[in-house]
Amino acid sequence: MDVETLDGFWQRVAQTRLRADQDLPLETILAGLLGVWSTCVVCNLLWEWTFDLLSRWQHALAEDRGARAQFSQSQRWCNEHAWFLKDLASPRTRSRVHRELFAEAEERIGEMLRADLDPVIREAVPRLQVDLMGSGTCPVCDEQAVVLQVVLAELARGLSSGSLREPFAASGGCCLPHLAALLHALPDSGTARFVLEATAAQLRRLREELETYETEAEHRTRRYGSAADAPARAMVRWVGMRGVVAGENGQGQAALLPAGRGSAAAAGGGDPGAQ
Ligand SMILES: [Zn+2]
Ligand SMILES: [Zn+2]
Repeated sequence: MDVETLDGFWQRVAQTRLRADQDLPLETILAGLLGVWSTCVVCNLLWEWTFDLLSRWQHALAEDRGARAQFSQSQRWCNEHAWFLKDLASPRTRSRVHRELFAEAEERIGEMLRADLDPVIREAVPRLQVDLMGSGTCPVCDEQAVVLQVVLAELARGLSSGSLREPFAASGGCCLPHLAALLHALPDSGTARFVLEATAAQLRRLREELETYETEAEHRTRRYGSAADAPARAMVRWVGMRGVVAGENGQGQAALLPAGRGSAAAAGGGDPGAQ
């Protein structure tokens, strides 16, 4: 990930989410995003970034033989990112890249067949996966981990200096997994105290909204006011947006949302994690 690309990413997010028509300082962008997203700003930024990256991948795979060669050698995409790419790339592009990818897999199987299979079948499953798919890691997860550190560092800087404190306190706050990562990134205990106190107040507000939702649902008086999406926001608050937070299997920052959600969210603004 080069810095230029990441700069471009921040400005694109500012254009699409904040309707900014000029370049803004990063702190201003983050303060604005805390105001427009009702769920974890870290999750939402990772989602946006992953959508951008996979959009570039699908374009390169359609147009560029070199990109397809790179793709067929990096077979270890995680399940979530592979399915997200499926939502963005045309069936024709996928057909071509899968044809090339499976040619590589056939070669690996050929190598296995030339060896003694007795020790092979006693290998651990992760080792057999390397035999079949190579030892690479998901390239999207790898880059996403870098972006996560950049986002956390910028958030920590603004919270520590004070410029992001007010927007953070008024926002929906971070999901609990990203709250842990943010605490770890903070430079001083005073900022950590502020973040925890703000989070406790946010959770109290969310519990009240959930109570309103339950009461309205029970009495069939649902008014679809601000509490209407409280259960969805609570879900994000608990575990983070679908697939954005690293799983327990150590597969890294797997992607995104269910099939079809990506293009709609990118085109329509809104808050993909709260749907
Ligand atoms: Zn999050
Ligand atoms: Zn991945």
